[in-house]
Amino acid sequence: MSFQEFNLDTSVLSGVKAVGYTTPTPIQRQAIPSIMEGKDLLGLAQTGTGKTAAFALPIIHHLIRHAGTRKVRALVVAPTRELAEQIHQACSDLAQDTRVTSIAIYGGVSKIPQLKGLRRNPEIMVACPGRLLDLVGDGAIDLSGIEVLVLDEADTMCDMGFLPDVRRILKLVPTKRQTLLFSATMPADIRKLTADILHDPTTVQVDPIAPAKTVSHALYPVPEALKKGLLLALLEQTPTGRTLVFTRTKHRTKRLALDLANHKYRVASLQGNLSQNRRQQSMDGFRDGKFDILVATDIASHGIDVPDLSHVINFDMPDTADAYTHRIGRTGRALQTGEAFTLAVPDDRPMVRVVERVLNAKIERRRLPGFNYGDFNPEAQFPPDRSNQPQANGRHFGSNSGNRRPASGQATRRPGPAVRNSPGTPSVAGGPRPGYRQRPSGGHSQSA
Ligand code: AMP
Repeated sequence: MSFQEFNLDTSVLSGVKAVGYTTPTPIQRQAIPSIMEGKDLLGLAQTGTGKTAAFALPIIHHLIRHAGTRKVRALVVAPTRELAEQIHQACSDLAQDTRVTSIAIYGGVSKIPQLKGLRRNPEIMVACPGRLLDLVGDGAIDLSGIEVLVLDEADTMCDMGFLPDVRRILKLVPTKRQTLLFSATMPADIRKLTADILHDPTTVQVDPIAPAKTVSHALYPVPEALKKGLLLALLEQTPTGRTLVFTRTKHRTKRLALDLANHKYRVASLQGNLSQNRRQQSMDGFRDGKFDILVATDIASHGIDVPDLSHVINFDMPDTADAYTHRIGRTGRALQTGEAFTLAVPDDRPMVRVVERVLNAKIERRRLPGFNYGDFNPEAQFPPDRSNQPQANGRHFGSNSGNRRPASGQATRRPGPAVRNSPGTPSVAGGPRPGYRQRPSGGHSQSA
């Protein structure tokens, strides 16, 4: 399915293209048509599923197609300023080729720039409850023109004690409106809220895909220029069995496979430019043990079922948390142990946050012992994000964590303490398994 099938305004589709989305995520497929019909919606989904675009796209479309007042017309209420900022950014990006504008309203910063922004009459407001009510009290915000109300991460708002504020906000918006409520879990308070405010809603549920419980995760901060060197050093130091390496593009897959072959690894590649025959040869060779490493784009993350896959290495950070769990899902199958390494450049910081948020865990940061990072300091990258700590029942994904995540739908969002492993931890959990291959000394081939 493509975004064209939603009949979104062409200026909205142009924003989708500009941000680089090609295929709608499951929640987008399910939610967009119903929201475009004007129905209320209950979305049972976490951040990382693509839910922001699932509501932002039909809202932007509605604002373009239907004339309204000069007041704020769509209100998104979110629990944290990071989330509000993120949603505002997504709305701005997706509406970049339209006249629709958005504003973020949250506390902890001066009101002045927000008051200035309000004078420009943005149609979309993404707000945290406290500052929103504060500015309504000041007479700076009028919510009587709201046509669409979105309550995002309703369970988090409930956990953070915002429900009374949310109820106050509900009294300030018109009763005749469209309401969309997103929540990862359904505690009793949220169940009651949905019953009170949603009228004949469409319910869409997108389960987060749990990564295999036996996989340990590690993040290797690295500058782009040193990525290849780090991967080679990592392969050299780590007793790996069958290893799947993911890159972002077909070209990078091809290049990296050639580079690894030049370093005497038995490597194949799998990417969309190869003929079906060549793809099959790569897969068969990888399964049969002719190749130790398969370098692939995300096309490989869905269909691959290779027994004894010991390592998944994200040479490039995936674009979505779903893609991360899909990729990682290739290892640690059938209760075998596996390791997932991610090479992360400083620009990957937002995605690291999203992945950790979805996994409800903090991924262990590592420095590869003996590797020359030059003046790059891996420990200075990806500092703990206070708004995004694993919850009290959250996990720390690392070599010794056991890394079990709560069963789907059971995550709670209460803030918990930061957990951070010291860098330099030896990179292999539990030591090599029998049959693990070190870097081979001969007999190399490559099918890139
Ligand atoms: P969200 O759950 O809305 O926070 O989205 C999680 C991540 O997925 C964000 O980085 C989005 O930019 C990205 N994303 C959303 N929709 C798509 C899509 N259709 N294709 C690729 N990435 C997407």
